[in-house]
Amino acid sequence: MEKVIILGAGPAGYTAALYAARADLNPLVLEGDEPGGQLTLTTMVENFPGFPEGIMGPELMQKMKEQAARFGARFVTRRADAVDLSQRPFTVKSLADTYQAHALIIATGASAKWLGVPGEKELVGRGVSSCATCDGFFFRDREVIVVGGGDSAMEEAIFLTKFASKVTIVHRRDELRASKIMQERAKSNPKIEFIWNTVVDRINSDNGVVTGVTLRDVKDGSTREFRTDGVFVAIGHTPNTKFLEGQVEMDEQGYIITRNGTQTSVPGVFAAGDVQDSVYRQAITAAGTGAMAALDAEKYLLEQGLA
Ligand code: NAP
Repeated sequence: MEKVIILGAGPAGYTAALYAARADLNPLVLEGDEPGGQLTLTTMVENFPGFPEGIMGPELMQKMKEQAARFGARFVTRRADAVDLSQRPFTVKSLADTYQAHALIIATGASAKWLGVPGEKELVGRGVSSCATCDGFFFRDREVIVVGGGDSAMEEAIFLTKFASKVTIVHRRDELRASKIMQERAKSNPKIEFIWNTVVDRINSDNGVVTGVTLRDVKDGSTREFRTDGVFVAIGHTPNTKFLEGQVEMDEQGYIITRNGTQTSVPGVFAAGDVQDSVYRQAITAAGTGAMAALDAEKYLLEQGLA
């Protein structure tokens, strides 16, 4: 029987583990399939306070883990496949094991959505990316496309103009979903062009490096080849909450709804990081809510006489 189990091992999960460990709750962290989370897919992180020269994403996550371990947090490389939050103590099931806990912190994050077209999967890291801030640097004086019409796509496109010679936004409709201010910024940027009513059907390559895309006009169905050096997919994120369906209140996109800090619809179950945040999605905000979740869990356990 655990006092608190933490699901997920990104900035939110590791920070929750640090705070819970320092509160003597001896937390157990189920790290999932991607210990370190989305930051392990990045290179240099330049906006995490405390590292004036920047720090590599994987190194930052390793340091967060070590810091939590120093105070007694325990880690298993298991993924939570199912939970039962209808009874106390709560039950968490992974493929091999079943765990029980008085309190639960969910910090399973979100994953970038992909197009699912031929060429995409095998070319990730070879010209295909879902993170301009991570990979934009590699496209100095190159031409790239950004797929999507939301704020993320505009932000990625604007950021990429720092490096790329030309950025083409490919959007499936003739109207952007992005906020007005982001639209204006993108539309007034001389390096950014738009292709409307168009989807990417395939990503083409030569010797394992992106050379172009096959575009399809959704209005008349015609296709054409378009030369590009890079493809940035910015079509949104999906919170990793499938295993929680029916157990805890979520919004229509699957993000966990929190109230009064990190409290979910189930007393004793808390959520932190990108799994409950579709707006900010920063490592520092995830870490902040991770700390909040551990403090909320500690308070809950004290009130229940379970700490
Ligand atoms: P989003 O608002 O859901 O936009 C996703 C875009 O991708 C939409 O334009 C959508 O097209 C398109 N799309 C979705 N699936 C597609 C597919 N299979 N093929 C082609 N296009 C596809 O996601 P987001 O841009 O990541 O933004 C998420 C949230 O974060 C929003 O609330 C946003 O305001 C916020 N955010 C804010 C900022 C900022 O303020 N600086 C920056 C980033 C994100 P349709 O329009 O046709 O649906």
